[in-house]
Amino acid sequence: MRNHEEYKIQIIKCTQWLSKHGYFGTLRGTGGNVSMRIEGEELFVITPSTLPYDQLSLDNMCVLDFDLKQIEGELKPSVEAGLHLECYKQRKDVNAVIHTHQIHASMFAILNKPIPALFDEVSFDIGPSVEVVPYGLSGSPELIENLRSKLSNNCHCYLIQNHGALNLGATLDKAWLNVELLEKTAKVYYGAQSTGNLVTLLPDDIVNLIRELRKEEFDTEPVCN
Ligand SMILES: [Zn+2]
Repeated sequence: MRNHEEYKIQIIKCTQWLSKHGYFGTLRGTGGNVSMRIEGEELFVITPSTLPYDQLSLDNMCVLDFDLKQIEGELKPSVEAGLHLECYKQRKDVNAVIHTHQIHASMFAILNKPIPALFDEVSFDIGPSVEVVPYGLSGSPELIENLRSKLSNNCHCYLIQNHGALNLGATLDKAWLNVELLEKTAKVYYGAQSTGNLVTLLPDDIVNLIRELRKEEFDTEPVCN
C-alpha cells in the first residue's frame, strides 16, 4: 500500500467532483487546489500544479512538510501550497483546505465586498461573515501575509480579492460542503441584490447567539496535531 493513500484517494475524488461541477471557474482549466493535513504529523497532502484534474493519480499527489519541503509526489505541488500551510499552522481546527475560483463567490471577490451570514446554516458552518483577503499575487508571501491577518476570525470561508475563494473544514467533507454553501449564499445574495430591493440580514441577536455557540465549539474541539 502506498504512503498516505487514503488521503490521496479522498482528495482526488473531491477535486474531480469540484472540477466537474465548475467550482474551479472553468471546466478545462486548473484553477484550484485541495489539501488535507496528515493527522498527527507536520505534513499535508496537496494536488500538483497545473495538471488537468482528470490526470490526477496517487503517484502525482504531493506530500509536503511544514517547511514546504516535498516528501512525496512526482510533480511540483500547487503554487498555493504556502496558503494552505498557513491555514494548518494558524488554525488547529482546520484539517482540510479547498481553494476555488467559484463563480458567484468570485463576483464578491472583485467587488471587494464581504458576504454576511444570511442563513442560519451559514452562520453555524461558515461563521458570521465571509471576509475578503486583500489581493496578493498567486503564491506570493504577500498573499500569505494578507491571509494571516484574517484567519483569527475562526470562520471557514474567505474571499481572495480579484482571485477566488478559500474554504476550510475540520474534515475534507466539511470543507467541501462549505464550498457549496458559500456558492449558494453568494448566488442568492447576488440575485437578491440585483432586484434593487433591500436584502434582509439575520437579526443581530441570532448572529451573536450563534457566534457564542461557535466559540464554545472552538473552545471544546480537540486540537488536531
Ligand atoms: Zn487560484
